[in-house]
Amino acid sequence: MTELERSIIAKVRVAPGERVRLTERDTRDSSLFGGEKDTKAATAALAKDIDALQDRLYAEGSRALLVILQGTDTSGKDGTIRTVFNATGPLGVTVTPFGVPTRTELAHDYLWRVHAACPRRGTIGIFNRSHYESVLVEKVRNLSPPDIVEQRYDQINAFEKHLVENGTTILKFMLHISKDEQKERLQERLDDPQKHWKFNPGDLEDRIYWDAYQDAYETMLERCSTHHAPWHVIPADRKWVRNAAIATIVKATLEDMNPQYPKVQWQPDEFTIS
Ligand code: AMP
Ligand code: MG
Repeated sequence: MTELERSIIAKVRVAPGERVRLTERDTRDSSLFGGEKDTKAATAALAKDIDALQDRLYAEGSRALLVILQGTDTSGKDGTIRTVFNATGPLGVTVTPFGVPTRTELAHDYLWRVHAACPRRGTIGIFNRSHYESVLVEKVRNLSPPDIVEQRYDQINAFEKHLVENGTTILKFMLHISKDEQKERLQERLDDPQKHWKFNPGDLEDRIYWDAYQDAYETMLERCSTHHAPWHVIPADRKWVRNAAIATIVKATLEDMNPQYPKVQWQPDEFTIS
Protein backbone atom coordinates (compact mmCIF):
# COMPACT_ATOMS: atom_id res chain seq x y z
CA MET A 1 0.00 0.00 0.00
CA THR A 2 1.32 3.47 -0.86
CA GLU A 3 1.64 6.31 1.65
CA LEU A 4 -1.20 8.16 -0.06
CA GLU A 5 -3.49 5.13 0.14
CA ARG A 6 -2.60 4.67 3.78
CA SER A 7 -3.32 8.29 4.63
CA ILE A 8 -6.66 8.28 2.79
CA ILE A 9 -7.75 5.16 4.65
CA ALA A 10 -6.55 6.53 7.99
CA LYS A 11 -8.59 9.68 7.44
CA VAL A 12 -11.91 8.05 6.58
CA ARG A 13 -11.89 4.67 8.36
CA VAL A 14 -13.86 4.41 11.59
CA ALA A 15 -11.98 2.61 14.35
CA PRO A 16 -13.93 -0.10 16.20
CA GLY A 17 -16.03 1.56 18.90
CA GLU A 18 -15.15 5.08 17.76
CA ARG A 19 -17.91 7.63 18.33
CA VAL A 20 -18.15 9.59 15.09
CA ARG A 21 -19.66 13.07 15.18
CA LEU A 22 -20.92 13.54 11.66
CA THR A 23 -21.29 17.30 12.07
CA GLU A 24 -17.55 17.44 12.74
CA ARG A 25 -16.69 15.58 9.55
CA ASP A 26 -16.41 18.02 6.67
CA THR A 27 -18.59 16.87 3.77
CA ARG A 28 -16.61 19.10 1.37
CA ASP A 29 -13.15 17.99 2.47
CA SER A 30 -10.84 17.59 -0.51
CA SER A 31 -7.55 17.92 1.35
CA LEU A 32 -6.43 14.40 0.51
CA PHE A 33 -6.44 15.01 -3.19
CA GLY A 34 -4.93 17.45 -5.65
CA GLY A 35 -6.93 19.33 -8.27
CA GLU A 36 -10.21 18.08 -9.69
CA LYS A 37 -8.92 17.39 -13.21
CA ASP A 38 -5.90 15.33 -12.13
CA THR A 39 -7.93 13.49 -9.51
CA LYS A 40 -10.57 12.49 -12.06
CA ALA A 41 -7.84 11.16 -14.34
CA ALA A 42 -6.34 9.23 -11.44
CA THR A 43 -9.75 7.75 -10.62
CA ALA A 44 -10.18 6.57 -14.21
CA ALA A 45 -6.80 4.84 -13.95
CA LEU A 46 -7.86 3.24 -10.65
CA ALA A 47 -11.03 1.91 -12.30
CA LYS A 48 -8.80 0.12 -14.82
CA ASP A 49 -6.62 -1.26 -12.01
CA ILE A 50 -9.76 -2.52 -10.27
CA ASP A 51 -10.73 -4.33 -13.47
CA ALA A 52 -7.31 -6.01 -13.74
CA LEU A 53 -7.46 -7.10 -10.11
CA GLN A 54 -11.03 -8.32 -10.55
CA ASP A 55 -9.86 -10.49 -13.44
CA ARG A 56 -7.38 -12.15 -11.09
CA LEU A 57 -10.05 -12.56 -8.40
CA TYR A 58 -12.33 -14.24 -10.93
CA ALA A 59 -9.59 -16.57 -12.18
CA GLU A 60 -8.61 -17.49 -8.62
CA GLY A 61 -12.26 -18.22 -7.87
CA SER A 62 -11.94 -18.70 -4.13
CA ARG A 63 -12.69 -15.35 -2.52
CA ALA A 64 -15.10 -12.45 -2.92
CA LEU A 65 -15.27 -8.72 -2.20
CA LEU A 66 -18.44 -7.11 -0.86
CA VAL A 67 -18.76 -3.33 -1.17
CA ILE A 68 -21.60 -1.82 0.86
CA LEU A 69 -22.81 1.69 0.02
CA GLN A 70 -25.05 3.57 2.42
CA GLY A 71 -26.10 7.20 2.42
CA THR A 72 -29.15 9.42 2.43
CA ASP A 73 -31.10 10.06 -0.76
CA THR A 74 -28.97 11.88 -3.37
CA SER A 75 -25.75 11.00 -1.56
CA GLY A 76 -24.42 9.47 -4.79
CA LYS A 77 -24.61 5.71 -4.39
CA ASP A 78 -25.55 5.13 -8.04
CA GLY A 79 -22.95 7.61 -9.31
CA THR A 80 -20.24 5.92 -7.26
CA ILE A 81 -21.01 2.55 -8.81
CA ARG A 82 -21.06 4.05 -12.28
CA THR A 83 -17.64 5.65 -11.90
CA VAL A 84 -15.64 3.32 -9.68
CA PHE A 85 -16.69 0.14 -11.49
CA ASN A 86 -17.10 1.55 -14.98
CA ALA A 87 -14.15 -0.44 -16.31
CA THR A 88 -14.88 -3.64 -14.43
CA GLY A 89 -15.96 -6.55 -16.62
CA PRO A 90 -19.65 -7.31 -16.00
CA LEU A 91 -18.93 -11.05 -15.68
CA GLY A 92 -17.44 -10.61 -12.27
CA VAL A 93 -19.67 -7.97 -10.69
CA THR A 94 -23.17 -7.96 -9.26
CA VAL A 95 -25.03 -4.88 -8.10
CA THR A 96 -27.94 -5.33 -5.71
CA PRO A 97 -30.22 -2.47 -4.69
CA PHE A 98 -32.18 -2.96 -1.48
CA GLY A 99 -35.55 -1.23 -1.44
CA VAL A 100 -38.65 -1.56 0.67
CA PRO A 101 -38.87 -5.28 1.50
CA THR A 102 -41.37 -7.31 -0.51
CA ARG A 103 -44.01 -9.51 1.11
CA THR A 104 -41.85 -12.56 0.60
CA GLU A 105 -38.84 -10.80 2.10
CA LEU A 106 -40.90 -9.68 5.08
CA ALA A 107 -41.89 -13.30 5.66
CA HIS A 108 -38.22 -14.01 6.48
CA ASP A 109 -35.70 -12.49 8.86
CA TYR A 110 -34.10 -9.23 7.66
CA LEU A 111 -30.79 -10.86 6.71
CA TRP A 112 -32.37 -13.47 4.47
CA ARG A 113 -32.48 -11.35 1.32
CA VAL A 114 -29.04 -9.97 2.10
CA HIS A 115 -27.29 -13.30 2.46
CA ALA A 116 -28.87 -14.49 -0.79
CA ALA A 117 -27.37 -11.48 -2.61
CA CYS A 118 -23.82 -11.88 -1.27
CA PRO A 119 -21.20 -12.25 -3.99
CA ARG A 120 -20.19 -15.70 -5.10
CA ARG A 121 -16.52 -16.66 -4.99
CA GLY A 122 -14.44 -14.87 -7.61
CA THR A 123 -16.73 -11.86 -7.84
CA ILE A 124 -17.31 -8.39 -6.46
CA GLY A 125 -20.76 -7.70 -5.01
CA ILE A 126 -21.95 -4.12 -4.62
CA PHE A 127 -24.85 -3.32 -2.33
CA ASN A 128 -26.79 -0.12 -3.03
CA ARG A 129 -28.25 0.16 0.48
CA SER A 130 -28.11 -3.00 2.54
CA HIS A 131 -29.05 -4.73 5.79
CA TYR A 132 -28.10 -1.44 7.47
CA GLU A 133 -31.50 -0.07 6.43
CA SER A 134 -32.76 -2.29 9.24
CA VAL A 135 -31.02 -0.03 11.77
CA LEU A 136 -31.59 3.20 9.79
CA VAL A 137 -34.99 3.64 8.11
CA GLU A 138 -36.58 0.96 10.28
CA LYS A 139 -35.31 2.68 13.40
CA VAL A 140 -36.03 6.27 12.38
CA ARG A 141 -39.50 5.54 11.05
CA ASN A 142 -40.35 3.08 13.82
CA LEU A 143 -40.93 0.25 11.37
CA SER A 144 -39.45 -2.15 13.90
CA PRO A 145 -39.64 -1.95 17.71
CA PRO A 146 -36.60 -0.39 19.43
CA ASP A 147 -35.65 -3.59 21.30
CA ILE A 148 -35.60 -5.52 18.01
CA VAL A 149 -33.45 -2.86 16.34
CA GLU A 150 -31.12 -2.85 19.36
CA GLN A 151 -30.35 -6.55 18.89
CA ARG A 152 -29.43 -6.08 15.28
CA TYR A 153 -26.05 -4.38 15.69
CA ASP A 154 -24.55 -7.50 17.24
CA GLN A 155 -26.40 -9.73 14.81
CA ILE A 156 -25.00 -7.78 11.87
CA ASN A 157 -21.46 -7.93 13.27
CA ALA A 158 -21.78 -11.70 13.70
CA PHE A 159 -23.24 -12.10 10.20
CA GLU A 160 -20.43 -10.09 8.63
CA LYS A 161 -17.81 -12.01 10.62
CA HIS A 162 -19.32 -15.20 9.27
CA LEU A 163 -18.99 -13.90 5.72
CA VAL A 164 -15.40 -12.80 6.29
CA GLU A 165 -14.42 -16.14 7.81
CA ASN A 166 -15.88 -17.80 4.75
CA GLY A 167 -13.82 -15.90 2.22
CA THR A 168 -15.56 -12.55 1.67
CA THR A 169 -13.72 -9.29 2.28
CA ILE A 170 -16.08 -6.48 3.29
CA LEU A 171 -15.77 -2.72 2.76
CA LYS A 172 -18.48 -0.36 3.97
CA PHE A 173 -18.82 3.22 2.79
CA MET A 174 -21.12 5.86 4.20
CA LEU A 175 -21.52 8.68 1.69
CA HIS A 176 -21.62 11.76 3.87
CA ILE A 177 -23.35 14.80 2.35
CA SER A 178 -24.57 18.01 3.94
CA LYS A 179 -28.23 18.93 4.21
CA ASP A 180 -27.60 21.92 1.92
CA GLU A 181 -26.04 19.72 -0.73
CA GLN A 182 -29.01 17.38 -0.56
CA LYS A 183 -31.33 20.35 -1.07
CA GLU A 184 -29.46 21.31 -4.24
CA ARG A 185 -29.49 17.78 -5.59
CA LEU A 186 -33.21 17.31 -4.89
CA GLN A 187 -33.92 20.65 -6.57
CA GLU A 188 -31.96 19.47 -9.63
CA ARG A 189 -34.25 16.47 -9.82
CA LEU A 190 -37.21 18.84 -10.01
CA ASP A 191 -35.57 21.22 -12.47
CA ASP A 192 -34.15 18.73 -14.96
CA PRO A 193 -36.81 16.71 -16.84
CA GLN A 194 -34.27 13.91 -17.34
CA LYS A 195 -33.94 13.62 -13.59
CA HIS A 196 -37.64 13.68 -12.77
CA TRP A 197 -37.73 9.90 -12.58
CA LYS A 198 -35.27 10.01 -9.70
CA PHE A 199 -37.47 12.32 -7.65
CA ASN A 200 -39.51 10.60 -5.01
CA PRO A 201 -41.80 12.71 -2.78
CA GLY A 202 -40.97 10.27 0.03
CA ASP A 203 -37.41 11.65 -0.01
CA LEU A 204 -38.81 14.95 1.27
CA GLU A 205 -40.34 13.12 4.21
CA ASP A 206 -37.00 11.50 4.99
CA ARG A 207 -35.46 14.97 4.87
CA ILE A 208 -37.72 16.03 7.74
CA TYR A 209 -36.08 13.25 9.76
CA TRP A 210 -32.57 14.41 8.81
CA ASP A 211 -31.28 14.73 12.39
CA ALA A 212 -32.75 11.40 13.45
CA TYR A 213 -31.06 9.75 10.46
CA GLN A 214 -27.72 11.35 11.30
CA ASP A 215 -28.07 9.99 14.85
CA ALA A 216 -28.91 6.54 13.55
CA TYR A 217 -25.89 6.67 11.25
CA GLU A 218 -23.64 7.65 14.13
CA THR A 219 -24.85 4.71 16.21
CA MET A 220 -24.42 2.35 13.27
CA LEU A 221 -20.85 3.57 12.72
CA GLU A 222 -19.97 3.23 16.39
CA ARG A 223 -21.48 -0.21 16.83
CA CYS A 224 -20.71 -1.85 13.48
CA SER A 225 -17.28 -0.67 12.38
CA THR A 226 -15.17 -3.72 13.13
CA HIS A 227 -11.69 -4.97 12.29
CA HIS A 228 -13.22 -7.54 9.97
CA ALA A 229 -15.69 -5.17 8.27
CA PRO A 230 -14.74 -1.51 8.69
CA TRP A 231 -16.90 1.53 7.96
CA HIS A 232 -15.53 4.52 6.06
CA VAL A 233 -17.12 7.97 6.19
CA ILE A 234 -16.61 9.49 2.75
CA PRO A 235 -16.87 13.25 2.22
CA ALA A 236 -19.41 13.20 -0.60
CA ASP A 237 -20.49 16.76 -1.40
CA ARG A 238 -17.90 16.75 -4.17
CA LYS A 239 -18.52 13.82 -6.46
CA TRP A 240 -14.93 13.62 -7.70
CA VAL A 241 -13.59 13.41 -4.13
CA ARG A 242 -16.13 10.73 -3.24
CA ASN A 243 -15.22 8.65 -6.31
CA ALA A 244 -11.49 9.07 -5.82
CA ALA A 245 -11.62 8.06 -2.15
CA ILE A 246 -13.71 4.96 -2.76
CA ALA A 247 -11.78 3.88 -5.86
CA THR A 248 -8.53 4.24 -3.91
CA ILE A 249 -9.74 2.07 -1.04
CA VAL A 250 -11.29 -0.59 -3.27
CA LYS A 251 -8.12 -0.84 -5.35
CA ALA A 252 -5.84 -0.95 -2.29
CA THR A 253 -8.01 -3.64 -0.71
CA LEU A 254 -8.00 -5.82 -3.82
CA GLU A 255 -4.25 -5.39 -4.08
CA ASP A 256 -3.93 -6.44 -0.46
CA MET A 257 -6.06 -9.52 -1.17
CA ASN A 258 -3.54 -10.22 -3.93
CA PRO A 259 -5.57 -12.76 -5.93
CA GLN A 260 -3.52 -15.22 -7.95
CA TYR A 261 -4.11 -16.85 -11.31
CA PRO A 262 -4.42 -20.57 -10.55
CA LYS A 263 -1.43 -22.82 -11.27
CA VAL A 264 -2.24 -25.42 -13.90
CA GLN A 265 -1.07 -29.03 -13.73
CA TRP A 266 0.38 -29.10 -17.25
CA GLN A 267 3.07 -27.43 -19.34
CA PRO A 268 2.02 -25.38 -22.38
CA ASP A 269 4.57 -27.18 -24.55
CA GLU A 270 2.87 -30.52 -23.87
CA PHE A 271 0.22 -29.50 -26.37
CA THR A 272 0.18 -28.84 -30.08
CA ILE A 273 -2.90 -27.24 -31.56
CA SER A 274 -3.47 -28.72 -35.02
P1 AMP B 1 -33.91 4.04 -3.57
O1 AMP B 1 -32.57 3.61 -3.04
O2 AMP B 1 -33.99 5.50 -3.87
O3 AMP B 1 -34.37 3.19 -4.71
O4 AMP B 1 -34.99 3.83 -2.42
C1 AMP B 1 -35.13 2.63 -1.75
C2 AMP B 1 -36.02 2.87 -0.56
O5 AMP B 1 -36.22 1.62 0.11
C3 AMP B 1 -35.45 3.84 0.44
O6 AMP B 1 -36.39 4.81 0.77
C4 AMP B 1 -35.13 2.96 1.63
O7 AMP B 1 -35.27 3.63 2.85
C5 AMP B 1 -36.16 1.85 1.48
N1 AMP B 1 -35.75 0.64 2.21
C6 AMP B 1 -34.64 -0.10 2.03
N2 AMP B 1 -34.58 -1.10 2.94
C7 AMP B 1 -35.67 -0.98 3.72
C8 AMP B 1 -36.16 -1.70 4.83
N3 AMP B 1 -35.49 -2.73 5.35
N4 AMP B 1 -37.32 -1.29 5.38
C9 AMP B 1 -37.98 -0.23 4.86
N5 AMP B 1 -37.57 0.49 3.82
C10 AMP B 1 -36.43 0.13 3.24
MG1 MG C 1 -34.29 7.45 -3.80
